[in-house]
Amino acid sequence: MKYLSSLKQKNLSGKTCLLRVDFNVKNDGNGGINHDNLRIEAAMPTIKFLIKKGVKVVILSHRGRPSKVSSLKFQISRYTLRPFAKILSKLLKKPVRFMDFRKGFNASKIREIIASTRDSIFLLENLRFLPGEEKNYVKFARKLASLGDFYVNDAFSVSHRENASVTAITKYLPSYAGLALESEIMNLSLVMKRPRKPLIIILGGAKISDKIGVIKNFLKKADKFLVGGGVANTFFAAQNLPLDDSLYENKMIPLARQLLKYKKIILPVDSAVKKGKILDIGPETAKKYAAIIKKAGTIIWNGPMGYIEEKQFRKGSEAILKAIFESRAFVIIGGGETTSLLKLKTHNLKHNIFISTGGGAMLEYLAGKKLPGLAALNLSRVSFATDWNN
Ligand code: ADP
Ligand code: MG
Repeated sequence: MKYLSSLKQKNLSGKTCLLRVDFNVKNDGNGGINHDNLRIEAAMPTIKFLIKKGVKVVILSHRGRPSKVSSLKFQISRYTLRPFAKILSKLLKKPVRFMDFRKGFNASKIREIIASTRDSIFLLENLRFLPGEEKNYVKFARKLASLGDFYVNDAFSVSHRENASVTAITKYLPSYAGLALESEIMNLSLVMKRPRKPLIIILGGAKISDKIGVIKNFLKKADKFLVGGGVANTFFAAQNLPLDDSLYENKMIPLARQLLKYKKIILPVDSAVKKGKILDIGPETAKKYAAIIKKAGTIIWNGPMGYIEEKQFRKGSEAILKAIFESRAFVIIGGGETTSLLKLKTHNLKHNIFISTGGGAMLEYLAGKKLPGLAALNLSRVSFATDWNN
């Protein structure tokens, strides 16, 4: 794989880069977008790197699943990337030109605009408004590729998708992993290959079926799994404990039953319950888990311990977070809801904690699967023309 960081000494001035990021950012619930979102923040170093090198940057992203919504008006109002131009412009203190293509994707027109203006940052509209993106059409990928001289993937969180702007595009342009993607790969491969022991994996969240690949892949390598959330509930169901209306996965009970024989899978000893629903780990469990966390060499955490949308059921996850901040382990935290527990600006993140932008992508990576986006970067054999050094 080629890394953007390896181009530090190269003269890139005047080139145009197609930069895939992930602005698939949830609304903040008040009709706005979370500005201090992890994913926007993660894209900044690469954008700044490119601007400093005198590169024109064409930012590519998707947002949501517009194809799932039938009303066109609703599609656009909900999934347009337009507001991100303003957000980016504020963060970068530079104009960001939004490129709407919904009246037809005309590559030569877009190229013309890019070439004719002094602006250096462009944001294309949500690529998923075009069918070619999710279908990974080579024809569309080639059109996209024609907009620039090289391609950078800095979107780890979509690297498990076979989409035109993630995989097919690498066939047509010299392709590099961006700075954020590079650090995802470095940190995640470290815990896969040489984790400092003991290795503790904390798993919570909604569904055990999302996490089962990680459990299986680390069953030998990990020293303990600390389980909470809906994942723990499914283990309780496998033990025939009464769950009433608690969140668990019926179809995963047989598998959970098989896993129960592994003593390294640690289940909660008490729970916070409301109206017959188990909604968080209890205080005894939090104490027990915290003691294990403090002795860890490496920690991987995905999935909250409880129903964190309600403050009173956030306590278990907050106790885990506190223990992590007090530990000296190397820590990886990933998952949309899990990382939302960290208010990045207020916490002074220590250097031993890595926040992954990947949810599904991180889980697939840690499950030992090959991510199509990374494989595509590995396979990309397109080189720059010989005048590259001039
Ligand atoms: P992440 O986004 O960090 O990967 P998941 O998507 O797997 O995490 O799960 C997060 C969701 O799981 C949260 O919305 C949370 O409310 C829910 N959850 C966790 N534990 C419970 C529980 N005991 N009951 C109901 N919902 C839960
Ligand atoms: Mg989630």
